[in-house]
Amino acid sequence: MNTGTVSHSGVVGRFAPSPTGLLHLGNAWSFLLAWLAAKTEEGRIILRHEDIDPVRSRKNWMDAIERDLQWLGLDWDEGPDDGPHAPYRQSLCSPLYEKALDLLKARHLVYPCYCTRRELRLLAGAPHGAADGLGDAGAAYPGTCRHLSTQERARKEAEGRRPSLRLLCPDDTEETFDDLVLGRQRIPLKNCGGDFALRRSDGVWAYQLAVVVDDMRMGVTQVVRGEDILLSTPRQLLLYRLLGGMPPVFAHIPLLHDKDGERLAKRHQSLSLAALRERGCRPENIIGFLAHLAGFQENPSPLSPAALAERIRREGGFPWHALPKTHILIPDNPEHILLS
Ligand code: GLU
Ligand code: ZN
Repeated sequence: MNTGTVSHSGVVGRFAPSPTGLLHLGNAWSFLLAWLAAKTEEGRIILRHEDIDPVRSRKNWMDAIERDLQWLGLDWDEGPDDGPHAPYRQSLCSPLYEKALDLLKARHLVYPCYCTRRELRLLAGAPHGAADGLGDAGAAYPGTCRHLSTQERARKEAEGRRPSLRLLCPDDTEETFDDLVLGRQRIPLKNCGGDFALRRSDGVWAYQLAVVVDDMRMGVTQVVRGEDILLSTPRQLLLYRLLGGMPPVFAHIPLLHDKDGERLAKRHQSLSLAALRERGCRPENIIGFLAHLAGFQENPSPLSPAALAERIRREGGFPWHALPKTHILIPDNPEHILLS
């Protein structure tokens, strides 16, 4: 990439997969767009494994993710083993998250929450608790443990309860940002789940804190990710402000859904990249198919990511405005196209 002949835009994008299963078509979609958005601007891509959840993350998934990305032709410029911003594995970053937590604690913005998942569900009256909030924020945490007295805390501790740690969020704040896909967003923080967790009661770091610390320290300037994470963004913008970091530009892209309207996910095993590869699918077929869904070409003709990037560059740059804004339904039997 660093040929020295072009001026560099300085875009730093990233792949931030959670190694909890095989990559599927929906992941390929997100990563292709993240890759194109950086590469069509002479930018760089970092690969960071978000293996923050010790129970669900596996080394063999990390290896499989790297293999699948390479097979697709989506290369990265930095990570995941060694480089200027190592470590590139969240499981190795605890001291960094601890440091950020200490900064927030020093400002009296962190408090222990002793609520169990069950209690949170009852409090919120919601069918599913979303205390850790990777996806939708769910019903807001009502701030139950915000003002517990020292005695009340001691009593909970004596009962053997282990607290999660929550960020005390300002009550009437809203976050404003210009999303590359969705346009200007103005979202009250109270719509995003209320005081959110920074560390779970089992000691696992929360996604919100980890992702901000890592994007900040790695100098990430452009985050392309699924619109299912949109309500995390105001929380992350608040953390950027509190930690004194410069937030990236965000692009929340529509996700792929199957014919029943269900989001493509790990359970769509036949659409894992590994399964498609084993059935003889070529990476160019996948890229051509996805480029068609994105509106970059009229039909799903096969092509390589590099050729697609070249075409986008020639045609004037990444057409953010042309991307569909709502979720995308993939054709009934995508294998027809993918395996042709
Ligand atoms: N590891 C997260 C995921 O798999 C990344 C979210 C993000 O891009 O911020 O969804
Ligand atoms: Zn609580």
